[in-house]
Amino acid sequence: MTRALVTGGAGFVGRTLASRLLDEGFEVIVLDNLSSPSPLGPPEGVTFIEGDVVDPPDLPGTIDRIYHLASPASPPRYLLDPIGTLLTGAEGTRRMLDLAERHGARFLFASTSEVYGDPTEHPQREEYTGSVQVTSTRACYDEAKRYAEALTYAYHRQNRVAEIRVARIFNTYGPAMAPDDGRVVSNFVNQALAGRHLTIYGDGSQTRSFCYVDDLVEGLWLLSNSDVTDPVNIGNPEEMSMRQLATIIAEEIGDSGVDYFPLPESDPARRRPDITRARTLLGWEPSIGLAEGLVPTIHYFRSLIDA
Ligand code: NAD
Ligand code: UDP
Repeated sequence: MTRALVTGGAGFVGRTLASRLLDEGFEVIVLDNLSSPSPLGPPEGVTFIEGDVVDPPDLPGTIDRIYHLASPASPPRYLLDPIGTLLTGAEGTRRMLDLAERHGARFLFASTSEVYGDPTEHPQREEYTGSVQVTSTRACYDEAKRYAEALTYAYHRQNRVAEIRVARIFNTYGPAMAPDDGRVVSNFVNQALAGRHLTIYGDGSQTRSFCYVDDLVEGLWLLSNSDVTDPVNIGNPEEMSMRQLATIIAEEIGDSGVDYFPLPESDPARRRPDITRARTLLGWEPSIGLAEGLVPTIHYFRSLIDA
């Protein structure tokens, strides 16, 4: 039986991926320090080990695959601890690559569209080198992920980890998100469910492209089974402004009005993945549009309130 380690597997994407791996017949170990867990925690059926990737405990048995997702992910969370965010990306990734080397494991790194920074190329192809302002507040996350990608390729080039995969994940939403993690979909849905004003930062003209979590996990699964070592964008190219997103959520749940707040520093003006590589090399593309994906997402957040 294939044994997989999912770091960050108590979080939103990690737990959804861990569930999928269990369904595929894998034995799954989750390593997570519970700094930003999903309210659902790690899925039933995994071996859960509480610990930090920066200073990991000994893990029992052999490991065939490592899905390395552990990192603060929402801007308010990573901005709370910029040094910790940089260390998680740098030292945490080094420790997980060392582990992959010891076990001869395949290593998948969960990178991000933030490696493109505030992009001057649109949509973003994997070849685009990005536009990150290194002195900006967001750089703690962006540069940690850029360094971690570079480290992953260095381990590969120096023949220490033979099998590497790098997924550049774009904005993802769905059940298992933490309602208070500060990202826009969880904020807007929970504000609307509570009858509060939606909080739009800036004038709301900035764009994002939202991918439903099951589509993302399918992409990660296909990438991890492929032989593609180049980075691959995984995201949904359905792009919209935050004002449009607010309108859609108000239509789904009820119109509770909006308030405008200052735009956070170096908040990217627009973002949309070019997914040609994923389509061509993995045969992957998202199948769930925002209107469809919001239904289970709203249902999930409502169930947390009713619980
Ligand atoms: P999340 O915050 O829900 O989950 C992250 C998990 O990692 C949490 O359970 C947290 O406790 C754990 N963690 C954080 N630092 C750790 C450490 N040092 N040691 C051990 N565990 C640690 O976030 P998510 O949305 O599930 O993101 C998962 C991964 O995907 C992250 O690497 C993130 O950068 C990447 N990603 C996510 C998105 C998205 O839209 N969800 C977009 C781009 C990239
Ligand atoms: N945003 C917003 N209101 C919120 C939370 C976020 O308008 O309550 C904006 C944020 O400024 C950004 C976009 O929504 O322009 C996406 O933010 P999120 O934190 O979800 O992801 P990221 O900025 O990492 O893409």
